[in-house]
Amino acid sequence: MSARLTVRPAHSRELPLIGTLIKKRLLSLAQTGTQAGKIQQMNPEKQLTRLIPDQTLFVARVGQNLVGLAALDLDRGQILACYLDRELGKKQHAVALVQAVEQRALAFGLRRLRIRVNSNTEAFFRKLEYTDGLARAAANETVLERSLLGHAEPWQRDRFRQLDELGIPANYGVRHRLTLVPETDDLVSIGPDIYGRDQRLIPLAAKAWSAMREAALDQGVELQVVSAFRTATYQSGLIRRKMEQGKSMEAILSSSTAPGFSEHHSGRALDLTAPGSTPVEEIFATTEAYHWLRVNAGVFGFRETFPRNNRHGILWEPWHWYYVRNQSS
Ligand SMILES: [Zn+2]
Repeated sequence: MSARLTVRPAHSRELPLIGTLIKKRLLSLAQTGTQAGKIQQMNPEKQLTRLIPDQTLFVARVGQNLVGLAALDLDRGQILACYLDRELGKKQHAVALVQAVEQRALAFGLRRLRIRVNSNTEAFFRKLEYTDGLARAAANETVLERSLLGHAEPWQRDRFRQLDELGIPANYGVRHRLTLVPETDDLVSIGPDIYGRDQRLIPLAAKAWSAMREAALDQGVELQVVSAFRTATYQSGLIRRKMEQGKSMEAILSSSTAPGFSEHHSGRALDLTAPGSTPVEEIFATTEAYHWLRVNAGVFGFRETFPRNNRHGILWEPWHWYYVRNQSS
């Protein structure tokens, strides 16, 4: 029986191996556009490190063997490279890698993907429905592209429509390194928020929140809910109201997440406040409640998504906490 193929985002501990294989040219290029060539010439390990947090570097493994890898260049909206092991790599591995990259691109809200190919690799990508694009190509290469909408789930297409209706720039997800968040319907009540509205989370997060709130109370710290689950449609409404108040889209998006990209859609995010603080204002960071969360929230599975100077370029949101676990502990 042959070992199964796995395609997944690379771990940082795999980078030295990947770097060595590329440098020794033990991996052949499934495409040899200029970008991929650059990776090969320079320090590949260093070049690829920056792709790890975005999970835009994929490896294909069969058993213990690394048989190929592919990388997505989010900012250029193109497949940066697709490599196969000279001996073990098969065309079907490259196909699976390209599909993984396409799904990841879609997650960031990209609707088209480009690839720079040469005469060796053009036929392979044409078979995958990549056709002549409009972008300028360097000598000895051709730029192909394809729409990703055919791969999109219905809910993703719904989000694209909502974003277009609001006039939100198509590169929003890429710019902020945020991915589309599916809306959950597996929700339970966590009781009323500070405005008396019933709030909901997924069951696991609700249980963890309840335990965390009680633990804080035991130590004399009161945590209050401002907001929990929100639909993308609700988020659109928030943005529409701000537009009607005459605010610019840039100003709106500096304080509100675009619909579809909010962690609140997952039923895992909580906006918290404390008595005497102002809801969803940075001043929450000065409260005892915030300091308690910084020390203890991790124990309950919650993390601060947008700390000061976060890599998303989102303003500091000390009130926003996200439940990361997939099972209770
Ligand atoms: Zn929030």
